[in-house]
Amino acid sequence: MVKLYLRAGHGGRYVGTAGNGLIEKQETLRHVLALAEQLSHYDVELKLARTTDVTVELADSIREANNWGANLYYSSHINGFNDSSAYGYDSHIYTSPDAESIRVQNILHPKQAAVWVKHGSRDRGKKRSNFAELRETKMASILIENGFITNYNDAQLLKKASFIQELTAATVEGLVELYGLKKKEASEVPAKMYIVQPGDNLYRIARKHNMTLSDLTNLNPHITDPSYIEVGDIIFLTPPSAFEVDYAVMNRQLILCQKKIEEYEVLGKEINLLSQRFLS
Ligand SMILES: [Zn+2]
Repeated sequence: MVKLYLRAGHGGRYVGTAGNGLIEKQETLRHVLALAEQLSHYDVELKLARTTDVTVELADSIREANNWGANLYYSSHINGFNDSSAYGYDSHIYTSPDAESIRVQNILHPKQAAVWVKHGSRDRGKKRSNFAELRETKMASILIENGFITNYNDAQLLKKASFIQELTAATVEGLVELYGLKKKEASEVPAKMYIVQPGDNLYRIARKHNMTLSDLTNLNPHITDPSYIEVGDIIFLTPPSAFEVDYAVMNRQLILCQKKIEEYEVLGKEINLLSQRFLS
């Protein structure tokens, strides 16, 4: 499974930059926690450098990501400058980046930048920088500067929960594209199954489990004809995942194959008998 290491810049005694009533270490955490929440619906392994306002040394995060064998090191920051007119979003990869980091920036950057531009800020471009987080990480790595905390308009955007959600959704969209992430099935608990026994019919199975026939047909899209079930068929009593439905369909095909083999065996024996009588 793809492993993503997410680092909310600064934290604890490292405040980062500040302005317009915002502190960088809190805003980076807000974005990373939203990102982790949205990504929790996908089949992906996550490790967060921090989930609260604690001090995590940069070198420790880099070591942790390297030892873990992350596929991507994603670092979230907010820019700040003594001239409050500076504004906009940019992303950074290492000065002599590996091909994978270039791919990551090429896909993530335009998606995130588009959200900033849409809300009246600007795209400052894809940058290359000699930051420790980019230089010393062994995997693809990217560092995001989500606007200028020292700029009034950028800061107003960062204060809006809806903007953070939109920015995060764009980031997730990029990660899904980068790694082909799949959404987790709605039901992660295995569905309850009943195996069809000789003499069963769907109505009897429904009654046995205090359900109606339509309850059962709704839960079992693989049973195309409710009046026809095979011994050994799987009947779901609770909602199945797509994978479980696939499994039930395959199971039925196997049962039908087995039936055909048995039919052919009987036919073969009959032909044998006939031919023996014929030849003798
Ligand atoms: Zn920072």
